[in-house]
Amino acid sequence: MANKAPGKADESPRVRIRDPFWDARRETVRRNAIPYQWKALNDALPNAEPSGCLRNFRIAAGMEQGEHRGFVFQDSDAAKWLEGVACSLMSQPDPELEARADKVAETIVAAQQPDGYLNTYYTINAPDKRFTNLRDNHELYCLGHLIEAAVAYYRATGKRLLLDAAVKYADLVDRVFGPEPEKKHGYPGHPELELALVKLYEATGEKRYLRLAGYFVDARGTAPLYFEEEEKQNGNGRFYFADGPLGYAYCQADRPVREQPEAEGHAVRAMYLYSAMADLARLNGDGELRSACERLWASVTERRMYITGAIGSSPYGEAFTFDYDLPNDTVYGETCAAIGLVFWARRMLLLDADGKYADVMERALYNCVLSGMQLDGQSFFYVNPLEVLPEAGSRDHGKQHVLSRRQPWFGCACCPPNLVRLLMSLEDYIYSVDGERVYVHLFVAGEGEFRLRSGKLRLRCSTDYPWDGRIRYSVHTEAPLPAVLALRLPAWSPSYRLRVNGETVEPVVERGYLQVERQWRDGDSLELELELRPTLYAASPSVPEDIGKAAMVCGPLVYCAEEADNGPRLHRLGFDPAAVPEWRYASDLPCTCKEITVSGWRDREWPPEGGSLYRPLGQPDREGVRLRLIPYFLWANRTPGEMRVWLRV
Ligand SMILES: [Zn+2]
Repeated sequence: MANKAPGKADESPRVRIRDPFWDARRETVRRNAIPYQWKALNDALPNAEPSGCLRNFRIAAGMEQGEHRGFVFQDSDAAKWLEGVACSLMSQPDPELEARADKVAETIVAAQQPDGYLNTYYTINAPDKRFTNLRDNHELYCLGHLIEAAVAYYRATGKRLLLDAAVKYADLVDRVFGPEPEKKHGYPGHPELELALVKLYEATGEKRYLRLAGYFVDARGTAPLYFEEEEKQNGNGRFYFADGPLGYAYCQADRPVREQPEAEGHAVRAMYLYSAMADLARLNGDGELRSACERLWASVTERRMYITGAIGSSPYGEAFTFDYDLPNDTVYGETCAAIGLVFWARRMLLLDADGKYADVMERALYNCVLSGMQLDGQSFFYVNPLEVLPEAGSRDHGKQHVLSRRQPWFGCACCPPNLVRLLMSLEDYIYSVDGERVYVHLFVAGEGEFRLRSGKLRLRCSTDYPWDGRIRYSVHTEAPLPAVLALRLPAWSPSYRLRVNGETVEPVVERGYLQVERQWRDGDSLELELELRPTLYAASPSVPEDIGKAAMVCGPLVYCAEEADNGPRLHRLGFDPAAVPEWRYASDLPCTCKEITVSGWRDREWPPEGGSLYRPLGQPDREGVRLRLIPYFLWANRTPGEMRVWLRV
């Protein structure tokens, strides 16, 4: 089956996706985004700055002459591309793509130094300065991505070249860093290596990697602060965020992670760090670390997250700011941060199967993550706003980061390959197994195969989700088998119907999952019907930006108004809360989807007499209009223009 591969633990579900909604997106990634990003890595995109990424490896290997190009973390682009390719190969073999990926892997490995070190920036520019500026220079971050790529590539192909190189480099890092007095007591400026070391431990069974991950997580933010010591010792430049409001909270190093009360700082760094913390809490049975994860989860999802799953309220530091500060038009909402939230949510589910984690995972996935990519897979958003006035992006310095068109590539190209690797590994997010219980976290058509203690169980799912709330499963077993199928009951579904072999059942609902326990027989069927209905949502009154406004939500999808459908000046529009929305397939949108139309209103322009900018408040002068809303992830796929999620009520 699909993700059966060497090294994959036998107990992980084997999953094959055959889903109308996701197949369309994943096919775009296969056909367009992967080849497109390969060109980017090879400096072959006509309309984008050369990346220099693979050339850097050839220069570091002595195969070419030249200077290092791009950021200190440019190497990670190649690793993330390879990881995406590996995930794609697991579900769909492609010898030509694999041959191309083999070459990329060979190019990377050619740059490895005899002692295992592998980083083109330092190898080319300053081989004597390795590990002297962990805070700013991403060496350990790049190793993290190398490991993730290597593990995925090994699982997809059984080829060890990259894995052996990653192990060799990880072993070097393990000799250099750690709690022992003779070692350096540093840790990554940008978390990523921590979660990657957990993957390396799971792939190799080598406990040292798990211990090193734990060391990095717990050394972070302890006094004396390593980053300051390192700055003094090596004459590194002053920390960019030292004197601003973030300080070392920018990189979650202002205090030890177990004591951090709130999610602070750079949102992507935070997500990668918290993901590793959740892994370590689970694998080490560490209750204190688990409490820290739960506290940070509440901080993010109850006070600092947008309705689309976007996180990072400010472009300053691409960071969290303070509770309920959720501006819609100056938000950062980096695609990578929403992807990181999905990573973290999945790990929280493995730690503790509570539907609240899956609800957020799904919300981020279907909205902020998907909006990062154009339907053709060839342009991308880095920033994902909930409100856009194109003129503001070009004329207001404070909103320059908010674009109304996706871009072909970025100098800092973190988001596009991150999207690819997440979409191509979606198999890992749908199910999990705990003892004799199979959890269904996401509703995605296809198959899952689970090895339970009592035997093998297969589930076949068919659905038109998220356009239809009916999800059907057929059960396949070799012999009758006792098991619990725990189907997620999303918080957004006020009611549900569940039938087993055609008969309505009302199972226990435990922490967001319908627990269907029985002796399963081959051919049994389950049909879950969720209540997918367009519904206006309000934000907490503590959110100043959204008070007096509402957003239209239907199941996992947030909807938005675009200028292409509703004309300009979207701020004049409002919902009528009593109106009944219509939800139906649209015939003129660039992909299969359902639109929402609903009666609303628009403030009329003032007549010229009586003051044109200000005048005494009178009765509102409004006209009735039919509002048309489209799924948020689809915005900016037609004529560029205004967009808004929150409208007045
Ligand atoms: Zn990014």
